[in-house]
Amino acid sequence: MTILTPNSPTAELQALDAAHHMHPFTHGAGLGEKGARIITRAEGCWLNDSDGNRILDAMAGLWCVNIGYGREELAEAAARQMRELPFYNTFFQTSHVPAINLAARLAELAPGDLNHVFFANSGSEANDTNLRMVRTYWQEKGQPQRQHVISRWNGYHGSSVGSGSLGGMKGMHAQGGMPIPGIHHIDQPYWYLEGGNMSEDDFGLARAQLLEEKILELGADNVAAFIAEPIQGAGGVIVPPATYWPEIQRIVDKYGILLIADEVICGFGRTGEWFGSQTMNIRPDIMTVAKGLSSGYQPIGASIVSDGVAKVIDGVEFNHGYTYSGHPVACAVALENLRLLDEEGIVTRARDETGPYLKAQFETLTDHPLVGEAKIVGHMGSIALTPDKASRARFAGEAGTAGFITRERCFANNLIMRHVGDRMIISPPLVISKEEIDTLIERARRSLDEAHAQLQEQGLMAAIPTV
Ligand SMILES: *Cc1c(COP(=O)(O)O)cnc(C)c1O
Repeated sequence: MTILTPNSPTAELQALDAAHHMHPFTHGAGLGEKGARIITRAEGCWLNDSDGNRILDAMAGLWCVNIGYGREELAEAAARQMRELPFYNTFFQTSHVPAINLAARLAELAPGDLNHVFFANSGSEANDTNLRMVRTYWQEKGQPQRQHVISRWNGYHGSSVGSGSLGGMKGMHAQGGMPIPGIHHIDQPYWYLEGGNMSEDDFGLARAQLLEEKILELGADNVAAFIAEPIQGAGGVIVPPATYWPEIQRIVDKYGILLIADEVICGFGRTGEWFGSQTMNIRPDIMTVAKGLSSGYQPIGASIVSDGVAKVIDGVEFNHGYTYSGHPVACAVALENLRLLDEEGIVTRARDETGPYLKAQFETLTDHPLVGEAKIVGHMGSIALTPDKASRARFAGEAGTAGFITRERCFANNLIMRHVGDRMIISPPLVISKEEIDTLIERARRSLDEAHAQLQEQGLMAAIPTV
């Protein structure tokens, strides 16, 4: 058979892709007809596709390429490690240098007493670990009835059966028998569409108090943990009101429930600090990390665990792990990524210089007639599309249509900006420059103009007020 290359004709690449490659979260037949966009190379914040377009990637791949594309040092770290020790496992009382170094480095970076690391290959796997770990923790603590885990509707924690059950994506639950038993969802702190006439602060408190209600409903002694993203990512970059997290922290403290912060997106500088838990000022017992840990150059995830939880888990044989837990090549690449993020001042520059600039520019989009709000923390932001700003209205037509149309205009303007329903989201590499930020905003504005015109033309601006 022929092996295609990045220089093969797009149509050939698309045809072979459609014939054999099943894509995640994709209507396969629909994509097959249209043909996938084929990305061939990348450098910094820029992608090249097989048609020769140069595209500004305002999503950092899938929220992960924090350091930007094309870093030789990471390729070198992988090659070096592959030559020295391409694989060994960490089961059966063995270890190796990259896993030792990376675990120690994560313990150093993570706040408080989060000093212990269990490796996985993805965020999904790390959250599966967390689910089993918190349940095992309580079993070993002599409270075996504490097995219920609370999470949130429209939260995202991964796509395996366990992590997908923790997540609150109803479209996912509708397929394949999720959620598994013992997982309970409460409503999200999404003020813009769900806050009605409440102030943001009152709404934040009310949504946090749903956790207390759920705990009391299940029985305070029956709840193992609460899991949440410091800022919801895949749900639409939903920044909670300022009152939300302090109240959640109060509640988990009051009932002695473990707090799992899913930092898979928020970690490694995305929100300004190294971790979203620091930005949101919370004290998790476990943090889930993946994505930015290796800037996506290698698949790796981890659970970073407190002294207290680790002590209990270390007291038993925890019958859990993955062949590639702490894969040496992934660990070596992650370690090098963390070194560069730190030593080159990428995280601090993103927080102190480009972050504030991005925020100021991004927020100018609120003056656009299609934009109801623009929210951004660090390098993750979103805008709500609305047919009527004054009433924070949703579109009367099918939800997500306006978002999809805007996303298509962005594509046409060589800007990768995703949509979640009718929210547009960005999560650019932390290395994005001020000049590139200007380009991002200019292309976003042009795409919004075009989408607005198209929505008007197609009679899709009918509004359902939320206030
Ligand atoms: C992406 C993501 C996950 C899942 O990570 P995978 O590596 O795709 O398994 C989990 N939690 C959050 C918050 C994520 O954004």
